[in-house]
Amino acid sequence: MALSNDEEKIEDYLFKIVLVGDSGVGKSNLLARFARDEFYSNSKSTIGVEFQTQKMDINGKEVKAQIWDTAGQERFRAVTSAYYRGAVGALLVYDISRRLTFDSIGRWLNELHTHSDMNIVTILVGNKSDLKDAREVTTAEGKGLAEAQGLFFMETSALDSSNVAAAFQTVVKEIYNILSRKVM
Ligand code: GDP
Ligand code: MG
Repeated sequence: MALSNDEEKIEDYLFKIVLVGDSGVGKSNLLARFARDEFYSNSKSTIGVEFQTQKMDINGKEVKAQIWDTAGQERFRAVTSAYYRGAVGALLVYDISRRLTFDSIGRWLNELHTHSDMNIVTILVGNKSDLKDAREVTTAEGKGLAEAQGLFFMETSALDSSNVAAAFQTVVKEIYNILSRKVM
């Protein structure tokens, strides 16, 4: 998404953001909470790719993000390269109450870097922070992995809304800042 001339405005761009991570970590619910302020207690079994276009306020400017959800493809390890194509941001999601989903992060990171730009702005997201009694991954572990891999980090809850908007905002704001520096 090179800015080819000075006439183009960042505000006119649509930032493609992808949600990545194991099945059941809450990707669809993070998007539902962010885009529609909704939560579903049962997983929807829709297969295929879905996306939502969301207007966001970044530094007082309106920016549009197109947020893509795997919508179940990941259950069959069949997330296609088309899913990642052109993505400038990613939310790499695990479930703090299921260690296996945290163990999968390395594999998802590889997949992300195979199919997208190395410079894709990525945040590691430990979702379901409301499940305090069932926690299997500490905040320090999440933070440590993020630091080692050069990722942003946040724990979220799609159920109680904690940090959901902040996680999306962090990614879009960073993309916006990088592009602003390029344009100037
Ligand atoms: P996906 O497969 O990654 O898209 O995950 P879903 O969004 O379908 O969520 C899987 C299950 O986890 C559903 O039963 C959701 O209701 C539940 N879930 C998602 N986010 C949260 C959360 O933040 N807290 C809790 N307690 N449950 C959640
Ligand atoms: Mg889903």
